[in-house]
Amino acid sequence: MSERASRGLIALIVIPLVLNSATFSRATDMGAPRAALLHPVISASPINGLKPSELHDSFNEIHCGHRHQAIDIMKPWGTPIHAVVDGTIRKLFHSRAGGITIYECDTYVTHCYYYAHLDHYASGLTEGMSVKHGQILGYLGISGNAAPNAPQLHFAIARLGPDKRWWKGTSIDPYLVLIGFLEQRV
Ligand SMILES: [Zn+2]
Repeated sequence: MSERASRGLIALIVIPLVLNSATFSRATDMGAPRAALLHPVISASPINGLKPSELHDSFNEIHCGHRHQAIDIMKPWGTPIHAVVDGTIRKLFHSRAGGITIYECDTYVTHCYYYAHLDHYASGLTEGMSVKHGQILGYLGISGNAAPNAPQLHFAIARLGPDKRWWKGTSIDPYLVLIGFLEQRV
């Protein structure tokens, strides 16, 4: 093999390896699996026994004058709400629209999960505490602007920016994430 040809061969082998490892190390800066940085991956349903047929994609609907960017899951008052991922309770917040709410960040702080219209928190739930997927965080209700005769969980997912501000991320359609998770299990 000529010197030129062998140099070409080395470039063919080495350059893709270098590029791949660069992409990989960037994506795993925080130790998170690469896929989890791009798409939220949940490990539990927020409500036990939830069926895909019970979900309705209302992400792009206009609710109270703005895009909903969430999903509403109708269930009886007091239904336990479970953490969808391992993570940390980032904020417990009472708002006029959301009522009694929880912001939970995943372990790598790539996504934040928002649970709203709760009736009350699980006892002992505090900001900063670590939680496991499936753990009960609170109980479904009508707090905030939910209709009094329509107990529901308002559930939203946001991809956080580099500043990791829990209240300001890019909204992701939770319907697609939930459907993907539930259909995988049936
Ligand atoms: Zn809602």
